Amino acid sequence: MATFIVTKIHKKTAADGSHEHVDGVCTADNLSYTRKQVVDSIGAGHAWVTVADGMTATITPVLCCPKCSLSPYLKTKPESPLKDNLENLDSC
Ligand SMILES: [Zn+2]
Repeated sequence: MATFIVTKIHKKTAADGSHEHVDGVCTADNLSYTRKQVVDSIGAGHAWVTVADGMTATITPVLCCPKCSLSPYLKTKPESPLKDNLENLDSC
């Protein structure tokens, strides 16, 4: 099983314009993956973590976005307010 290091994210505005979604991620080796690819990979047993400012957090799939019904979605655990939170990474 592999461990994927996520350093940046792609964001996309929700259909109603009220918030943004993590639409995809970029890894430390500069590859880009869609949200679904990450969810499927985690389902297959691979580990996905964020690394930023020397902090790290584990990415886990969730049923849907906390602000709408977009499904499936991703979050980091613990839900840090800091840079390692998936939502707070720089865009790629
Ligand atoms: Zn949403």
